Amino acid sequence: MDETRAALADGFKDNSLTNSKQYNEAVMANQTSKLRPVNTPYKQYPPGVKVFNCSLCPYTTVYKSDLKRHNLQHTGERPYKCYVCNKDFTQNHVLKTHMLIHLRQKPFQCEVCQQSFRHAKSLNDHKHKLMHYPSE
Ligand SMILES: [Zn+2]
Ligand SMILES: [Zn+2]
Ligand SMILES: [Zn+2]
Repeated sequence: MDETRAALADGFKDNSLTNSKQYNEAVMANQTSKLRPVNTPYKQYPPGVKVFNCSLCPYTTVYKSDLKRHNLQHTGERPYKCYVCNKDFTQNHVLKTHMLIHLRQKPFQCEVCQQSFRHAKSLNDHKHKLMHYPSE
């Protein structure tokens, strides 16, 4: 411990010797160059951890499933489909949030009798059953 402290003290001594304005600017410039671009997500992983890199952007994750999900942002693929209104979503949690709308609402309304339905199919069934399509 004493050795470390001595080394630290030496370091401080060295610093004080070179503590000129120019030296500080050089250090600052050096530190700045080491910083990543502002938009780059920066994550510190413990050594030995397998990290998955996105081939299209600086995104990294330790979960393969996360990378897969992330890749959808680049491919524009929307594998999660709302079975109520057939809207597509890139992420499951977005779909789940969307589904709450349907759970609370009955967005499909019969234009004839104003009855509301949760599913387009229910509304269609309703119309077929009652044979009451609006006259055009
Ligand atoms: Zn990416
Ligand atoms: Zn929907
Ligand atoms: Zn109706």
